Amino acid sequence: MTDTARGLAAALGGEHVVLDPGVLAAYRHDEAEWAPYGEPLALVRPRGTGQVRELVRYCLEHRIPLVPRGAGTGLSGGANAVDGCVVVSFEAMNAVLEIDREERLAVVQPGVVNDDLRAACAEHGLWYPPDPASSPWSTIGGNVATNAGGMCCAKYGVTRDYVLGLEAVTGRGETVRLGRRTAKGVTGYDLCGLMVGSEGTLGVITEVTVRLRPARQPERTVAGFFDSVVTAGEAVSAVVASGAVPSALELVDRHCLEAVDAWKNMGLSADADVVLLARVDTPGEAGDAEAAGVRDSFAAAGATWAAVSADQREADALFDARRLAYPALERLGPVLTEDVCVPRTVVPEMLARIEKTAAAHDVLIANIAHAGDGNLHPLIITPAGDERARTRAQRAFEVILDDAIALGGTVTGEHGVGLLKKRGMSTELSPPVLDMHRAVKAALDPHGILNPGKVFDGAEAPAS
Ligand SMILES: Cc1cc2nc3c(=O)[nH]c(=O)nc-3n(C[C@H](O)[C@H](O)[C@H](O)COP(=O)(O)OP(=O)(O)OC[C@H]3O[C@@H](n4cnc5c(N)ncnc54)[C@H](O)[C@@H]3O)c2cc1C
Repeated sequence: MTDTARGLAAALGGEHVVLDPGVLAAYRHDEAEWAPYGEPLALVRPRGTGQVRELVRYCLEHRIPLVPRGAGTGLSGGANAVDGCVVVSFEAMNAVLEIDREERLAVVQPGVVNDDLRAACAEHGLWYPPDPASSPWSTIGGNVATNAGGMCCAKYGVTRDYVLGLEAVTGRGETVRLGRRTAKGVTGYDLCGLMVGSEGTLGVITEVTVRLRPARQPERTVAGFFDSVVTAGEAVSAVVASGAVPSALELVDRHCLEAVDAWKNMGLSADADVVLLARVDTPGEAGDAEAAGVRDSFAAAGATWAAVSADQREADALFDARRLAYPALERLGPVLTEDVCVPRTVVPEMLARIEKTAAAHDVLIANIAHAGDGNLHPLIITPAGDERARTRAQRAFEVILDDAIALGGTVTGEHGVGLLKKRGMSTELSPPVLDMHRAVKAALDPHGILNPGKVFDGAEAPAS
């Protein structure tokens, strides 16, 4: 056992510190196949905020990098280990501490799985909306640290819209409570909001208070088949222009449907190159009219087939296929996942540019999208072991980022900067804005021990 490991075990209690290389191997990286990762020194599974504070203080004193980790479903390399780091995992901090029906809020530990929180809320007639497609696995801590989006965000917003308050241990080793429990509150700067989406680089989140909504209304599903992604993109713009606000508007292309079918044998239709899936949860006749309007927008934009589904099971199967698209494609070869977000009016133009980029770089690009948000996930797939294809894919990835910026968009809609979007971030943000980021990092993590190398490069945080 090294001196550092001995010191950690003494500070935290040996049973919470894992050094077994076999176990550590499973904590080296997230789901971003292309992002580099290092070898952790140790894994720590704290049981409470006090232990997290002790851990941060130990790492601060010994200048050991510390990488917070939820379920490791991230798609930007944000939870990837750096050499000699301590990975802190919240598997043992997974309790729903409180659900307050009258105030419509819940207080949770960071390791609670997204679907588990939703199920716990449903028992009280309440609903936690943010629903990343990774909801069966991803944790609230990871969702908050990445400001995760999801399927219903087109109507109900992203994780940030639901975080009222949180507790975190900063890179200074201080435990702070940020935000509030009240419906409104503007005391001081929005430091709670700052922590949301900070990707483990400003603080280790140890507790989260989330806003809840009343239980959701039943939804109708509208499906449309299209013979090109660009036509499907035009249908998205048509739905937005019509004033309809679907509770989901997702795009899945043939590559994804075929990959899911080959894996799960779900009997998915092969009649379309692209499928748009919308959900409408407006109650009563107004909802019927809204669903019919979405169908008509699909048809007017050039759908080869469009209908309000009468078969709930079939509708659910299509949404399940959408959720499974990413892991299904991963079975075909290494996947480089994009996450650009563009104004919804330019979705067709962005999709056309992605097609051109695929052809120009001779790479296979499959498409899934939270199309109603303009949040596109072109998935660049390369044959395993084909280094030339990998290089072409990397170039295509960067072209897509530049195209998104050129169209008034952003390089990451929900997955975060992590390791994969650092070049994109420095292109998108102006030098003064990047300086503001560095100043915030230096204030909260002066020695750069929290998730170093993520979002920023190198020694961006000068020691104070
Ligand atoms: C099949 C699939 C579907 C997906 N669909 C979506 C989607 O629809 N929408 C979406 O937004 N994302 C999606 N993702 C990406 C991913 O699930 C999200 O980014 C999710 O929020 C990550 O949660 P996690 O618990 O796995 O966190 P991890 O991947 O473990 O970590 C993510 C980041 O959060 C930091 N972090 C984790 N816990 C803490 C903590 N307690 N304190 C401080 N920092 C912390 C990590 O350091 C890292 O930077 C998908 C991923 C997959 C594999």
